[in-house]
Amino acid sequence: MNFVTDLDVKGKLVFLRVDFNVPLDDKGEIRDDTRIRASLPTIVWLLDHGARLVIASHLGRPKGKVDPAMSLRPAAKRLAELIPNKVVMAPDVIGDEVGRLKHALGEGEALLLENVRFYKEEEKNDPKFAKKLAEDIDIFVNDAFGSSHRAHASVVGIADFVPVTAAGFLMKKEVDYLKKAVHTPVKPYIAILGGAKVSDKIEIIESLIGKADHILIGGAMAYTFLKAQGLGVGKSLVEDDQMEIALIILDKARANAVSFHLPLDHVLAKTAEAGAFTKIVETLPFPDDMMGVDIGPKTVDAYAAVIATARTIFWNGPMGIFEIDEFAKGTIGIAKAVAYSGAVSIVGGGDSVAAVKKAGVEDRISHLSTGGGASLEYVAYETLPGITALEK
Ligand code: AMP
Repeated sequence: MNFVTDLDVKGKLVFLRVDFNVPLDDKGEIRDDTRIRASLPTIVWLLDHGARLVIASHLGRPKGKVDPAMSLRPAAKRLAELIPNKVVMAPDVIGDEVGRLKHALGEGEALLLENVRFYKEEEKNDPKFAKKLAEDIDIFVNDAFGSSHRAHASVVGIADFVPVTAAGFLMKKEVDYLKKAVHTPVKPYIAILGGAKVSDKIEIIESLIGKADHILIGGAMAYTFLKAQGLGVGKSLVEDDQMEIALIILDKARANAVSFHLPLDHVLAKTAEAGAFTKIVETLPFPDDMMGVDIGPKTVDAYAAVIATARTIFWNGPMGIFEIDEFAKGTIGIAKAVAYSGAVSIVGGGDSVAAVKKAGVEDRISHLSTGGGASLEYVAYETLPGITALEK
């Protein structure tokens, strides 16, 4: 896989896939421009070295139709504020007008295409669409790590029609860190998994058995594992159709001598709302009218003791409904334990990254991944479609 600095980009028409999928408010203003800023090292390097830069991204889920509320225009405006170079906003993704704008680009100038997902062909990885994206392009650079688990036209298909491909700075940084955790983790290697759904994370849990020394489970996911073992979990969020696989995972963990940890105590609430009646319990079953909303203090202590032994940590998913302050203690406790562990720590996923920020310990995490789904899939499969496309 080439890295962008390996290439001579002067005067070349470079297609750069970034992740400008920024949150917008109801007035269409950008609420948080972290993702745009994260792409700047690659954008600035390319422009400084004389590339004629075509930038592409998706925003939201327009499902193959033009939706002005998901236009990338605000991102073009913000990019133009962040760099001194000329930034032109394209009216479309492909077509004659875009072709003219591409040709008119001078060295050190950028053209931001419209939302690639305005075309249904993008998510279908349609080769005809990919070929149109690649028209006249000399170099394809992928810096959209957070989109690289998707086999979409602007991430994967385009690589077939461009003579030279390379990874951008952000992509390289992500892969370098994740490789450490996946291919050569310094042991003890501890994986912490939380969040709402087991089904999303089942494959990664399976892949971690045999690799990680400890797997710590929190969030609603824990209740599927507990219920699968015949324990009553009240009205906690459970995926009944995942209980069978949960039991298989528990068996596999036993057979592989992986320490698989489930919470020792729980914060229960009558409803998942601020101000709801809560109590902390250690024993199951839970009362029928209550649900688990966070790991309890004993669990935080026990998990923190394991985390303190780690040399490598991978964390994805909150330990409870951390968006509500009263149910955030468990997640914040884990964030602090990870931050002060001294281990190489990789935290992936918007919620876990938000939790680390909420705990005020972001500076002490080795790597905050910009891609939740992408980092999970990388850990499970040891590569991503977007990375394989660059390796061809
Ligand atoms: P995920 O996208 O699977 O990582 O899930 C993140 C979401 O899981 C967050 O919005 C949390 O509020 C939610 N979550 C975590 N713990 C629980 C729980 N015990 N019950 C319901 N939702 C939860």
